[in-house]
Amino acid sequence: MLSLSLPIEKLRLVGPSMASRLKRLGIFDVYDLIYYFPFRYDDFSHLKKINELQVGDIATVRGKIELLDNRRSPRKKMILTECFLSDETGSIKAIWFGQPYILKVLKNGDEVYFSGKVTGNLLELFFQNPTYEKVTGDTTHTARLVPIYPLTEGITQKQIRFLIKQALAGVSQIKEWLPEPFKKDYHLTELQDALYAIHFPKDASDLGQSQNRLKFDELLKLHLQNYLLKKDLDNSVASPIKFDEGKTKAIVANLGFALTGAQRKAAWQVLLDMAKAKPMNRLLEGDVGSGKTAVAAIALANAALNNVQSAFLAPTEILASQHFLSLKEILKPLDLNVAILTAKKSGVFNTGDEAPSAITKAKLLKSMTLGEIQVVVGTHALIQEKVAFGNLGLVVIDEQHRFGVEQRKAMREKSSPARPERSRGAGNPKTTPHLLSMTATPIPRTLALTLYGDLDLSVLDELPPNRKKPITQLVAPTGREKAYEFILGKVKEGRQIFVVCPLIEESDKLGVKAATEEYQKLSEEIFPQLAIGLLHGRMNIKQKEKVMNDFTSGKIDILAATPVVEVGVNVPNASVILIESAERFGLAQLHQLRGRVNRAHHQSYCFIFTENNSARLKLLVDCFDGFKLAEEDLRARGSGNLTGNEQSGFFWQLRIASLSDVKLIEETKKASQELVENYPETLKQLDLTNNIHPE
Ligand code: ADP
Ligand code: MG
Repeated sequence: MLSLSLPIEKLRLVGPSMASRLKRLGIFDVYDLIYYFPFRYDDFSHLKKINELQVGDIATVRGKIELLDNRRSPRKKMILTECFLSDETGSIKAIWFGQPYILKVLKNGDEVYFSGKVTGNLLELFFQNPTYEKVTGDTTHTARLVPIYPLTEGITQKQIRFLIKQALAGVSQIKEWLPEPFKKDYHLTELQDALYAIHFPKDASDLGQSQNRLKFDELLKLHLQNYLLKKDLDNSVASPIKFDEGKTKAIVANLGFALTGAQRKAAWQVLLDMAKAKPMNRLLEGDVGSGKTAVAAIALANAALNNVQSAFLAPTEILASQHFLSLKEILKPLDLNVAILTAKKSGVFNTGDEAPSAITKAKLLKSMTLGEIQVVVGTHALIQEKVAFGNLGLVVIDEQHRFGVEQRKAMREKSSPARPERSRGAGNPKTTPHLLSMTATPIPRTLALTLYGDLDLSVLDELPPNRKKPITQLVAPTGREKAYEFILGKVKEGRQIFVVCPLIEESDKLGVKAATEEYQKLSEEIFPQLAIGLLHGRMNIKQKEKVMNDFTSGKIDILAATPVVEVGVNVPNASVILIESAERFGLAQLHQLRGRVNRAHHQSYCFIFTENNSARLKLLVDCFDGFKLAEEDLRARGSGNLTGNEQSGFFWQLRIASLSDVKLIEETKKASQELVENYPETLKQLDLTNNIHPE
């Protein structure tokens, strides 16, 4: 029997390099494969006879292979593989480019399916690069609704389908967790059937039922998690953190700016929460550039002044480094030790020091358990088991939607020292730290209340003064040259530029290809005289940091980047952002990107390059309200106008449901209450682990 926890290495045809690619997608075992869902399907279910085919058809035919051979293309130096496929009604040619190994897979006389697009002219029809599959009992790649998965370089659709098909033998071990009568009431199909059908649906209605069941499960679990969290927090105690007015004033005076009214109010709400013996659970929502870091810093300072430790979690190494360095400035008026801990890095400084110093991980971990470090900034590395605090009293999570519920929970549990006997802090292992989550994702308020109903909310609805709104322009292809001229002028004035490239194709999940191509174009053709930098998801942390440091310090004029890596990055001297193929993004995400250049007093500019001058994108020109734009996105998504790309950056913990499933979000909220009341035993066996987390 196939075990759900069987590591992927043990599956057929998974060698070390394939294994590492799969891990990059977050797939470690059989269970992960089962829960790796397609993002769309090719409908190859329409079987046709060869004499019925017409140019433009997306079709599948079944027939016998004849005259299969490779030949060299006369002009290009590419190998062409050709054959004829015949059924009782006729025959059609098929051509593949650059796939000579097909000769090893297919043989003359084989009975096969070909699926793909029919091209040709009046004289001749042919299949170009069709998907092929030998006729056996049941098909995987042809003659059906064929699943298409988000992939990374080096894995093909055929490979992942093959692996998932193997993994699906394990579905029988996934337990149904919902009670029969409950499923009946909500018209839900069986979980095992749904998990099979999401990959290999029999037909559209089978797929629809499967999607409904899996979205329902996902949202229901989200609500239940929130419910359990609330219950948990209601029953737990925290170390009260007293407001130190004098020192807080010193911190604020040291900021170099006056707090906005919204910052002051949010900070006050946070301080009131923390003063209680009940753990704070507050979400700080604020548009990009609204100054969430300063609010967090005030909370961190007060925790330190009350002799409890704080953890400050950020989703990327770059952001963690940035926070680490800004805290060095902000917390100067206090005498504190602040550390950074990420997968690749550990460092520490005392607020009296000139610069941070290196420290070995082992030493840092020890100092943390001894309570010698007051603030630790870090990435997911902080969540690991071996990381322990002597006396953790506050957890701040930046870009909280990029962390799964499990991860947030694990972080809260860090207040119990792993080895209490070695802790000299005043730590009470029975306390739970206060939690401050921060996000720039403007979740429309109604949704936020349904999703996070049990959370206290602070909103920074006011930007710091003297921020000029970025002048936003849609640029058609004909306006490109002029925009480049403008950029050159700005660079000459000493400003810096972001160029953001969308992920070109789903398979380029980390944006390597997109950003690299843009980088080459900019540095070789358009601005050969300028210093161009490149930032994408596949670079290692050393490279990323070097690029970010070079950009922050002005060595790089123009940074070509993917949308994912730079969330939250703060480079006040950058005053222009240029976004390629903007139609691929949601408005809220474009607005977030534009926030990158709205951080200082310079007039900033956002150029939205697009080929279709859509009314949707025009909204950005004079709307600067992130919430309104997010609501507009919901409408567009509801009507099916947006797909794929624009989801990234939002709600990473959702695999299949999305914010546009508003009805289902409400329905599952009610369902969760019913489950809690009528079937409390289901909560005991609730498996909350299936959250994904890229990065
Ligand atoms: P975000 O909410 O996106 O995390 P940050 O905390 O990074 O925003 O702040 C963005 C920039 O605005 C930083 O350079 C910060 O120093 C500056 N800033 C924050 N608050 C104020 C304020 N009240 N007045 C002026 N500048 C501010
Ligand atoms: Mg931020």
